[in-house]
Amino acid sequence: MKTEKILVTGGFGFIGSHLVERLLKDPNTCVHVVDSMVTSPIDLQAFLSRVQGDGRLTYDIITVGEYLSHPDLPRFDKIYHLASVVGPVGVLDYGGRIVQSIVSDTYAIAEYCMKESARLCDISTSEIYGGGRDGYCSEADAKIIPPKVTVRLEYAVGKLACEVALINLHRLQGLSVVIVRPFNVAGPRQAPRGGFVLPRFIRQALADEPITVYGDGKMIRAFTHVEDMVEGILSVMERGCPGEAYNIGNPANKTTIAALAQKVVEITQSTSKIVHVDPKKLWGRFFEEANDKFPDADRAINDLGWRPKHDLDSTIKDTVRYIAEGRRD
Ligand code: UDP
Repeated sequence: MKTEKILVTGGFGFIGSHLVERLLKDPNTCVHVVDSMVTSPIDLQAFLSRVQGDGRLTYDIITVGEYLSHPDLPRFDKIYHLASVVGPVGVLDYGGRIVQSIVSDTYAIAEYCMKESARLCDISTSEIYGGGRDGYCSEADAKIIPPKVTVRLEYAVGKLACEVALINLHRLQGLSVVIVRPFNVAGPRQAPRGGFVLPRFIRQALADEPITVYGDGKMIRAFTHVEDMVEGILSVMERGCPGEAYNIGNPANKTTIAALAQKVVEITQSTSKIVHVDPKKLWGRFFEEANDKFPDADRAINDLGWRPKHDLDSTIKDTVRYIAEGRRD
């Protein structure tokens, strides 16, 4: 069987590292990772000693722009483009530059894919919906651009602009592209640094410190285990219709953030108190809450045969185990 050559940008990130591990399970696959490591949650040596094995994983610690400006790049059959600034707190440092970085990287990738006839899977975001219909987000719905300009909005519109450009490049110039819109991903390796809720709550619970629920805690999210997310991304790459976008998120794991905090306390048997805090006091005035969001995942389920396996409890338990063991591999 022919060896498939795959490039994963952001392949040492939270989702990317799980994707790389999963891709390498196929012995006919070689994976090259391009990652600047600026926001990587892993200890690279520990990760490599666990997965590198038979030399099918290679990498460059470099930005996407720097990598693609190299004059003689190898040919890849498929590219998963995950590299991006990310996280409600993580994005704050990059305000004013987020659109530029997302758009320039994605264009460079798209141009490479057209030149080399590679298939592209672009990882977008559920934030492009701007909250959908009271949080319910279907691919058939209009995207909402809220009136208030925030750093978070810059991230959402940057990703949306890329989606639109990629779909038009498919229609007009034959780019083979599929798009994934992930909804809140959680699981082992997710770092609290970007501000993500589950690793923050779990660390607080394990240390018996106060659990910091923002505001009234009524915000709605649906959490998807990172292993289910990876299977969804693979389904979109393998079976997605070119020029189309797919929600990947588990609607069965819908919860309020206050209920999530309660579940974390119960699962960890923590003595932590749940406290309600103003996130702007923690992160500054540019921090913004997102609208409620949870996916309609019928398209991925019916058209691609994607089946998320992990419920909310098992997603929390897997994450607790990883954090409690102090792992970074
Ligand atoms: N959140 C919270 N306390 C925290 C961190 C996050 O209440 O310490 C809330 C946050 O306001 C949001 C939800 O948890 O409503 C999910 O936050 P996350 O940053 O993980 O994802 P996103 O807001 O991008 O959906």
